[in-house]
Amino acid sequence: SGARVRRARNRRPPQFLERDVDVKFSDVAGLGKIRLELEEIVKFFTHAEMYRRRGVKIPGGILLCGPPGVGKTLLAKAVAGEAGVNFFSISASQFVEIYVGVGASRVRALYQEAKDNAPAVVFIDELDAVGRERGLIKGSGGQERDATLNQLLVSLDGFEGRGDVITIASTNRPDILDPALVRPGRFDRKIHIPKPSLQGRIEILQVHARQKALAEDVDYMAVASMTDGMVGAELANIIEVAALSMLRDGRSEITTDDLLQAAQLEERGMLDRKDRSLEMWKRIALNEAAQAVVAVNFPDLRNIEFLNIAPRAGRELGYVRSKLDHIKFKEGMLSRQSLLDHITVQLASRAADEIWHGEDQLSTIWAETANNARSAARTFVLGGLSEKHHGLNNFWVAEKINDIDLEAQRIVNLCYERVKKILHRNRKLVDVVVDELVKKKSLAKKEFFDLVEMHGSLEPIAPTI
Ligand code: ADP
Repeated sequence: SGARVRRARNRRPPQFLERDVDVKFSDVAGLGKIRLELEEIVKFFTHAEMYRRRGVKIPGGILLCGPPGVGKTLLAKAVAGEAGVNFFSISASQFVEIYVGVGASRVRALYQEAKDNAPAVVFIDELDAVGRERGLIKGSGGQERDATLNQLLVSLDGFEGRGDVITIASTNRPDILDPALVRPGRFDRKIHIPKPSLQGRIEILQVHARQKALAEDVDYMAVASMTDGMVGAELANIIEVAALSMLRDGRSEITTDDLLQAAQLEERGMLDRKDRSLEMWKRIALNEAAQAVVAVNFPDLRNIEFLNIAPRAGRELGYVRSKLDHIKFKEGMLSRQSLLDHITVQLASRAADEIWHGEDQLSTIWAETANNARSAARTFVLGGLSEKHHGLNNFWVAEKINDIDLEAQRIVNLCYERVKKILHRNRKLVDVVVDELVKKKSLAKKEFFDLVEMHGSLEPIAPTI
């Protein structure tokens, strides 16, 4: 009867198996060199025998660390897909049950299924939900979790070095895991998956574009540059939303504009995650608006792609996406006038703070841009571009550090007077842009230029240098 019971259990369909997982590495983009590490994990399956013969240690567990949505689950699936093995998955938060013993028996069942269907990848999402250092949670909930964790440790040890079942777990908090979990033979290999770079975002957008009807001339660079800080899941979502607006309009191709608008929506959706006071939003918006409004006055700088004050990883403040051409700047190819215009724009936040809030209410929001202005002014002087030190004759004079700094300061002061004039003349425009920014958190190119058209006053103000 024992055999019959076992057979009966085996006939039950596996509950943790994901069928038809057909993910390949080519579906995961923007990883750069990390991909090599994952390819090695595939080899633990495909070349297990060779590894064993050579005495190479096959890890029992691999930890994928990184923020939500960067593609950890996708990667685990791709490993199974590339190796051609079964994929079992569970979210660790499902382990944590109210009834004592349920979590532990789930872990046992999961690994039993994997063993019966080896070779296999076992994927545990949010490992930290159960793998938090033991003893940190008090009461019976803590006891239950400890039992689950203990069972997980036992299960991991059962497969150590065999290469037929490899566990991949994901977490955003590797630092709080129980030390027993990361001991050799368990999750002893950590792979960090960061948020994608600019290039990474382009690649991710392109991967998702494969299944959609995108226009030939879609400007991926434009979309990637306005999605700084976003992860793969958000980028995938942008493509979906763009596809919807194409369908809604009865068009047959997704355009750059669809994508940019979808990106803006995605960005707005992220806003509630951080609370700022209205006062703070306004300050940041003013900082942003002032720079943009001043920049549109200058031919080389008016190419503003996007205004944004949404909180972003690693960036406290918003930023205007209009940049001096940095390559030209480095190569010294910028005209004298453009460089002065650049300095003027960099001083816009400082001047706006003074005009709108008064000298005694200054913030430090403009510290970075004011610094840019100073260093650009030095470049200006050192390059022999200032009137006073124009040409070789005077260049030697300027070589004295003090002299350079004094002259740079004179340039900065002149540009500062100029930027104040421009802002005074465009007070209305700045106010409107601030209001819109506070309301929407970001403005697309067209929205911004529509406001400029309505409220701007752009007759040139020549620098008096
Ligand atoms: P995580 O497990 O890190 O939270 P997921 O793997 O669940 O993230 O990502 C969710 C979805 O986002 C994926 O199914 C995929 O559509 C998209 N995605 C995330 N990262 C990438 C990437 N690097 N390349 C392509 N698509 C990605």
